[in-house]
This record gives sequence, C-alpha cells and structure tokens, in this order.
Amino acid sequence: MPGPNRKRVIGLWPSLQERNLPSPLSATWSPPQDKILITTYVNDLSKHLHDTYNVLFSTDFCGFLGNPLVAIDCLKMVCNDEIKFGLEAVAFKHVIKNLHPKSLNGTSEFIGGYHGRIGWSASDARTLFDHSKVLLLDSQITETQLLLQIASQFNRPIYVNIHEGELNSNLGNIQTNSTTLVVENDISPESVDKAFQLSDKLGIGRIYDLVHGGRSRPNFNWYKDWKVISDEMKKFRPTLVHIPIGTDASDSLPNIMPEQFWEELGKLRNELCFFPIVECQWGINRGSIICEPHKDPWRIRYLQAKLKILVDNDVVKK
Ligand SMILES: [Zn+2]
Repeated sequence: MPGPNRKRVIGLWPSLQERNLPSPLSATWSPPQDKILITTYVNDLSKHLHDTYNVLFSTDFCGFLGNPLVAIDCLKMVCNDEIKFGLEAVAFKHVIKNLHPKSLNGTSEFIGGYHGRIGWSASDARTLFDHSKVLLLDSQITETQLLLQIASQFNRPIYVNIHEGELNSNLGNIQTNSTTLVVENDISPESVDKAFQLSDKLGIGRIYDLVHGGRSRPNFNWYKDWKVISDEMKKFRPTLVHIPIGTDASDSLPNIMPEQFWEELGKLRNELCFFPIVECQWGINRGSIICEPHKDPWRIRYLQAKLKILVDNDVVKK
C-alpha cells in the first residue's frame, strides 16, 4: 500500500490488550509491572520508523573498518529522492563518537537505530569461522549499556539491536525501560524461541533475521524450504526484519531467490507491519573489511537492483 494508506497499516499494529494475550511461543508468561510502559516504547519506535522512513540500511555495506557516514552519500544515489532511507549504524568503537547525536549535526536525522553486540551462542550451528568472526566483531562493538545511554540522548526513539545471546548474558544489568532495545534471533536452533521469550518477558521489540532463520535449520534450502521461514515469522511477529542481500554467501540470502518468496515477504510486511532493514555484506574479497561504496558504481547498481525487488514486491513501500 503506497503513501496515504501507510498510516492505516500502523493503526493495525497490535493493541496493548492484544499484545498482553499469552503469546503462541510461550505457554507460561506473566507481564512485568512496567509492561505497559515498555510496550508503549515499542509502539512508539514502530510508529516513528514507519512515519519517518521507507527503509533502513545497515552500515555493514561500508565494510567493518569503513566510514559508516559515507553510507548516506551512497544511499542518496541508490534511492534517488524516491525512497526515504535511514541507517542502522553498526556501533563500532572506532566510529561511535562520530555517530553520537551531538557530533552528527546535519546527519542525525538519518540514524534510525544502532546494531550492538552479538554475544555468545553455545551452539553447533556456529562454525569455528563464525565464532572467531563474532568474537572479533564484539570486541570492536560498543558495550551494550553505553550504547543504550547514547541512544537515549536523541530526541526520538532510536533502537539498540543486540542478539539474543548478548541480551541473555546481560539481563541483570540492562535497563530496558531507558530506551528502545530490540532483540535479534541468532543462528542456533533455539534462538528464535529464546529471542521471543526474552522480548515478551521484557516487553521489548524483536528483529527477525531471515538468514539466521535459515541457518538455524540443518540442511536448509531456500528454494524448497522458504515457507518454513514465513510460518516462523507469523509466530514471531517481528517489529523489524533484517533482509540480508549482500554478496557474502555466509551471511546473505542466495543471489537469486524464488519470486514467490519476495511476494510472500511483501504480504507478511502488510500483515505483520514489520519495518524492513536491508543488510549488505560484500564478503572478505569484495569489501566487507573496508570499502567506499559511494565511489563504486557497481555497488550502487547492485543495491539499486536489490531495492527494486523489495519495492516491486511491497516489502519496501514508497
Ligand atoms: Zn541481522
């Protein structure tokens, strides 16, 4: 649904009463005392994102050592004034001072949220390579409590996304009602359930990552099994969805996905009112470590082509 109907979709966002019903994934659940206050934060976040942007892009496409602020120059070319974009800024320590609300000046409006730490996941689903990558990334990403403080200094709801493993190990020291925390599923088989239960218990938002959903299943095949993912999303009811479209095969959807999958994702977008976030890692040989996407015409064309698929299928609404 384009333009004017967008508000109507937001009106369908589950009411507080609906959200207080027992969830399909957790049989025993009791609301914490501040449930209503925190649920209001989740609704505020969702409304703010839908009202302000058409889509967010993770700054991962600038490379882990790249300057995330060049993402804005690149995305202006990709989106061509037709699509309102914002950023999910990966909160690396070496750039966090540039992503702070006080240092952003004219570009602060582009920040939609931060991606924080991933955390430990005791699962066979992670290979030695995954474990090393996560340990390295987490050592370079801003500590969760500090990130929550930074996010709370904006004059609007800025979310902080951490993975379920990181949330689980920080439960005692995170103040969930200080800002808008969201939890993302990781790649272990129990991760979706764990993320759901944590978000339900704390009354915070949740992110469903499509690739993590697939990787949490042994021998998962996107061409044969994609319906399993759409069924899981219906139960998970994400606030936000990570759509990884990069060229890095280890952390992206296959380059060519079944058309029915994109159609289904568009339907789910309308049904569940989730907000889309595009992730794009290039792979070690193509610029995942460092690149300048605004200077590379092929990267701009690549992002344009993927964005067109999302717009054509109503996953991203103009
Ligand atoms: Zn993700």
